[in-house]
Amino acid sequence: GLEGATDEDTDLESRPPVVTIMGHVDHGKTSLLDALRKADVAAHEAGGITQHIGAYQVTVPDGSRVTFIDTPGHAAFTAMRARGASVTDMVVLVVAADDGVMPQTIEAINHAKAANVPLIVAVNKIDKPGVNPDRVRQELLQHEIVVESLGGETQEVEVSATQKINLDKLLEAITLQAELLDLRANPDRAAEGTVIESKLDRGRGPVATVLVQKGTLKQGEIVVAGAEWGRVRAMLDDKGRQLKSAGPSLPVEILGLSGVPTAGENFVAVEDEGRAREISDFRQRKLREKVSAAHTAGRGTLAEMLARVQLGEQKEVAVVVKADVQGSAEAIGVTLGKLGNEEVRVRVLHSAVGQITESDIQLAKASGAVVVAFNVRATTQAREMAQRDGVDIRYYSIIYEVSDDIEKLYKGKLAPVQREKFLGYAQILQVFEVKRVGNVAGCRVTEGVVKRGCGVRLLRDGVVIHQGELSTLRRFKDDVREVGNGLECGMSFANYNDIRVDDQIECYEVETVAAA
Ligand code: GDP
Repeated sequence: GLEGATDEDTDLESRPPVVTIMGHVDHGKTSLLDALRKADVAAHEAGGITQHIGAYQVTVPDGSRVTFIDTPGHAAFTAMRARGASVTDMVVLVVAADDGVMPQTIEAINHAKAANVPLIVAVNKIDKPGVNPDRVRQELLQHEIVVESLGGETQEVEVSATQKINLDKLLEAITLQAELLDLRANPDRAAEGTVIESKLDRGRGPVATVLVQKGTLKQGEIVVAGAEWGRVRAMLDDKGRQLKSAGPSLPVEILGLSGVPTAGENFVAVEDEGRAREISDFRQRKLREKVSAAHTAGRGTLAEMLARVQLGEQKEVAVVVKADVQGSAEAIGVTLGKLGNEEVRVRVLHSAVGQITESDIQLAKASGAVVVAFNVRATTQAREMAQRDGVDIRYYSIIYEVSDDIEKLYKGKLAPVQREKFLGYAQILQVFEVKRVGNVAGCRVTEGVVKRGCGVRLLRDGVVIHQGELSTLRRFKDDVREVGNGLECGMSFANYNDIRVDDQIECYEVETVAAA
C-alpha cells in the first residue's frame, strides 16, 4: 500500500470537478440536479437503473466528466466541512428569476465564501413569462457577487431546469471553472476520500457512499471509513453498475464495512487488517474523547478561540451575526468590519435578520466562529446543536457591547469567558396587576426549568423585547427556587412591566468559564 505517500507534481492527473448545488428553497435545486443527471450522455449506454447514492457523475458531450453532490442545500455541505472534509470544488448557486435573491441565497453565498469555493450563478426558471434576470444580477451585486455581464468574474447561466434550457451551457461553465482551478489528483496510490452518505441496509448491511478524492479504490481492498473498517465486498456506481475500481472524483457505494460511518468522515484504503484495526481503534478513541469533551462545560469555540489568540495561533476571529432588524445587522457588520489589528483579523462570515437556525450553527462550527445574536434567539434545534457542538452564541441588545466583546476577544483580553446556559421556556397565560410589585405574569413552564433570580429574555413573536432578571418566582403563594416543566408559576421581572399574555420567557444562567 501507498497509504500516506505524498504526491509528486508529476504523478498528478486532471480529475473531474465536484459540484454542490445551493440556493433558496423552491428555486429549483432538485429539479436542476434531476435535469443534469438526465443530460448525462453515458446514462443511455449504461442502460442501468439510476439509484440515489448521494452523488453522481455525468459525462458531458465533449467527454469530460462532472460529479454532483446529490444533496442540495448547504446543510450537507457545511456539515461535511465541519468534520474537516473539503469535498466541493465549486458551488452552483441557483436563483429563481421570478423570486430573486432570498435569505437562503445569501446564506449559500456566505457558506461558499467561508469555504473559499468559487460560485457559478444559475438563474433558473427563465421559461416563466415576464421574468427579469437583470434584477437578479443587480441583487447579487449587493452581496458582492459580480457576474460577468456586469464586468465581474462570476460566471452566470440563464437556465430552465424543467424546460431543459441551457443545461449544456451550465455544464460548459462548470468545465471552464474546473480548468481554471486546475484540479488534479494522483490516481496511482492508495485511495483516500470522504464519506458522502451512509445507511444500514436490511439486506446488504452497512452501506456507504464514498467520494474517492485521491488514488484508486479497488474491489477487495481493506478500507477504514470514519471509525469503521472492512473489506470492500462490492462497489457500485449511481447507475447500479458493479465496478472493479474507482478513481479520483468518482462517487461509489461500497459494501462490506463493519458499521455505518458518518457523512463527512474520511476514508482510506490500507494494506492489511492490522493497520485497519489500528486506525479504527485510534479514531474510536478520538471519538470518545470528543464526546466527553463536548459534555465538559467550558469547552467551546469562544474559550478555545481566546486561548488560541493568546497563544498567537489564531489569526482571525470569525463572527456570524443574526439580528432582529436589517439596520442592526448592518450596523453590527460595519462596526465589526472595522475591528482587528495587524495580528488578528475580524471577519463577518454571515449577517442576516431572523432567529438563529441550524444553518448558522453549522456555518459557525465549520469556520470556528462565534454567533452574535442581537435581540434574537436561537430555535430549539439550533440551540441544541450549538450546545452539542460547542458553538458559542453570545446574546446582546446594545451594539457597542458587541464590538467591545469582539475587540476584547481579538486582543486576547476577554477573560474569564462568560457562557450562557439555557434553562427553560415559560409562556405567559395571564397578567395580574399587583400593588407595589407591578405586573406579575401567570405562566406555565413549557420546556426545561425556571430558577429563582435567573436571567430572562422576553420574547414577543420571536423577537426579544426585554432582557433582564427574574425578581420573584412563586408557586401558589410561596417563593420557590425552581419550577419544572409543565408546572404553573408566577413571575415578575426586575424593573420591567410591559408583559402580555402569550409572551414567551426564555430563562438562562450565566456561568463563568476560565479562559483556556
Ligand atoms: P428546490 O427546493 O430548490 O429543490 O426546488 P425544486 O426543484 O423542488 O423546485 C421547486 C418548484 O419550482 C417545483 O414546482 C418545480 O417544478 C419548479 N421549477 C423548478 N425549476 C423550474 C424551471 O426552470 N421553470 C419553472 N417554470 N419551474 C421550475
